[in-house]
Amino acid sequence: MFCSHCKQDAIIYLPYSKTHLCEKHFKEMFDKRFRATIREFGMIKKGERIAIGVSGGKDSCVLLYSLAKLREVLPFEIVAITINEGIEGYRNKTLEFAKQECEKLGIEHHTFSYKKEVGMTLDEIMKKKGTEEIPCSYCGVMRRRLLNNAARDLNADKLALGHNLDDIAQTVFMNIMRNEPLRLARLNEPLVEDDKFVPRIRPLMRAPEKEIAIYALVNGIEIDFQECPYAKHAFRAHIREQLNETEEKYPGTKFKIVNSFFAIEKALRKGLQGEEKFEMKYCKQCKEPSANDVCVFCGMVEQLQAI
Ligand code: SF4
Repeated sequence: MFCSHCKQDAIIYLPYSKTHLCEKHFKEMFDKRFRATIREFGMIKKGERIAIGVSGGKDSCVLLYSLAKLREVLPFEIVAITINEGIEGYRNKTLEFAKQECEKLGIEHHTFSYKKEVGMTLDEIMKKKGTEEIPCSYCGVMRRRLLNNAARDLNADKLALGHNLDDIAQTVFMNIMRNEPLRLARLNEPLVEDDKFVPRIRPLMRAPEKEIAIYALVNGIEIDFQECPYAKHAFRAHIREQLNETEEKYPGTKFKIVNSFFAIEKALRKGLQGEEKFEMKYCKQCKEPSANDVCVFCGMVEQLQAI
């Protein structure tokens, strides 16, 4: 097959736009969309310090690479943060990739661990909690806290995360299926602001997961296709499978879900703010912003220490 734009061999077919692309045109399309997303949401301003959450997986390594490249036309600072959850046989390998990619690009890199900050690894937490608990519920809360605090301590203006189009479409669906309108409303922007929260940006949110993997390969970014061993227990894994099946039959579905979310986002936020009171409190224990007297993070740690 030839590229839809030139006579070169195509390396990818995009069913949602019915186009074949060669390496050159694929890279151009990917970079253009990445930069357009940053512009559309005003994600990065000249001179800002951007912390990037780099797990060492394909999404975060491509994010790191693409942001480093963007600095050729928009001067800003980058610092990379890796969180080591302590997942035997999985995280050590991706940590190496994160370190290696940062070194290649000359980016300052800091690692934080659950063991040091929470007192136990995720594996230890799951041993305590037993198999009926969902690892991601603990991991998500803890990683969010560690990333935010690390970005704040490193004086970052924003925290960039590698969430892709698939992740966002899944999150929209999950929040609807769990009847979590508040979570949905704050997916892209917090409902309340606080100096202690580092604003999060997701420059890859319009990039499908498969295209990120191909972009990594054609740009020589080393990636590991191994998935977190706990991922299969998550509700997300089920939604992911369903959405992939639908995308296969009806190409463009994931783009449509994400675009629908952005079309209703404003109305949703406005509607909810009319009904709910967003009173920001501070956790009695850690003094971080919280909806309750004790934040979810401290509640979890306390519960784990009591077992
Ligand atoms: Fe943590 Fe779940 Fe992600 Fe694994 S899949 S790293 S347990 S959030």
